[in-house]
Amino acid sequence: MAKIDETGPDIAVVGGGPAGLMAALALATAGVPVTLVARMAAVDNRTSALLAGSVSALETIGVWPRCRDKSAPLSVMRIVDDTGRLVRAPETRFDAAEIGLEAFGYNIANSDLVTAMLETAHTLPALTIVDDVVSAVEVAAEYVSLTLAGGALLTPRLVIGADGRRSLCREAVGIALDTHAYSQSALTLTFAHSRDHGFTSTEFHTPSGPFTLVPLPGRRSSLVWVLQPKEAERIGALDDAALAALVEERSQSILGKITLDGERGLFPLSVATASRFAANRIALVGEAGHVIPPIGAQGLNLGLRDAAAIAEIAADAVRHGGNFGDDPGADDRLSAYDQARRQDITRRSLAVDLLNRSLLTDFLPVQSARGFGLYLLDRTGLLRRAVMREGVTPAGSVPRLMRGEPI
Ligand SMILES: Cc1cc2nc3c(=O)[nH]c(=O)nc-3n(C[C@H](O)[C@H](O)[C@H](O)COP(=O)(O)OP(=O)(O)OC[C@H]3O[C@@H](n4cnc5c(N)ncnc54)[C@H](O)[C@@H]3O)c2cc1C
Repeated sequence: MAKIDETGPDIAVVGGGPAGLMAALALATAGVPVTLVARMAAVDNRTSALLAGSVSALETIGVWPRCRDKSAPLSVMRIVDDTGRLVRAPETRFDAAEIGLEAFGYNIANSDLVTAMLETAHTLPALTIVDDVVSAVEVAAEYVSLTLAGGALLTPRLVIGADGRRSLCREAVGIALDTHAYSQSALTLTFAHSRDHGFTSTEFHTPSGPFTLVPLPGRRSSLVWVLQPKEAERIGALDDAALAALVEERSQSILGKITLDGERGLFPLSVATASRFAANRIALVGEAGHVIPPIGAQGLNLGLRDAAAIAEIAADAVRHGGNFGDDPGADDRLSAYDQARRQDITRRSLAVDLLNRSLLTDFLPVQSARGFGLYLLDRTGLLRRAVMREGVTPAGSVPRLMRGEPI
């Protein structure tokens, strides 16, 4: 059956989080018409460490100049074993200069990132933003029907589902989700401190999970503190002075005196991976396709690579046609997307999950293996540099935007 609304968009993005905005911006900067369905709400208090490839992509689509002054470079990353266990790993230090970079990436408040993306979006004639939510998704052979809460109907040939972990788009095509909830929550906050952070991010590995300090501009930092859920709630309810004192104690006073200066957030942690990243004219990007715990700053970086990858495939379809015609949602295009993203997503989800479980376990051989791995990283420059490069720029195919090339 042909599209119902011949004048409607050929490509629609559902969800205006950072992954959805990235997909819409990447297409629109390439001149490919796209409609973004997004209800703009207040963004939570988290910050995101964006790795070098993500920053290159944001630079290429013109967003980064609006972020630069609001972000802090991450020049050094330290891992400190604070488990207090019998087998402890040595401190491991990664210095971006060792692989010829000024920084592994930059840390920025999600609200500043989304604002910069939206400001850029409003300058792009190929991008239409519809301030609404999708209430129903139905798949037909040649298009997808998106019914909006306000009553409008869109019938694009490709839907980019960026609608987060409870994705309606994913449900509509019946893609299964392999999920595991950890008995952990992340407490997030931002604070000012009396000592310079020296653009160093420090991850203390504790028996309940990581306690990670990440620099912000000036003498400010963000904290992601992974705890057992009840403990996270208890600590999150402390008054400002008591919480600041506790954070200072847990951070071994490396940042001096601490003063809290923003809202607190509490996030239950889980890992989830979709069985496929695309089917029936719907491609999943960001947390609609995968959720991982906040260790090693991988979640959103993966989501931005998803967004850049589907934008590249869809733009090639629209502009060049070729063997599969100009249909951006054709099966072959979606298979290409699924294949392009599979290795990156599954490898990183597995690595982060293993590292998290190794912190939680009391099983001595696993603790020893983790300690030995970090010992090798500390002592072996070649291995350390390989791990740093893989962390910043994954092996295998990366989307063009992540290499600083326009789509
Ligand atoms: C504590 C913590 C710290 C983290 N730190 C980092 C980090 O340092 N670096 C990193 O790379 N990652 C980090 N992450 C992961 C990162 O935050 C997520 O990967 C990212 O926010 C996901 O973005 P998204 O756009 O996929 O989803 P979301 O931000 O959840 O966006 C989904 C959007 O879709 C909208 N939506 C949902 N349903 C509909 C509908 N039916 N119609 C229209 N819109 C809809 C929602 O309103 C929302 O705006 C962290 C995660 C946590 C929990």
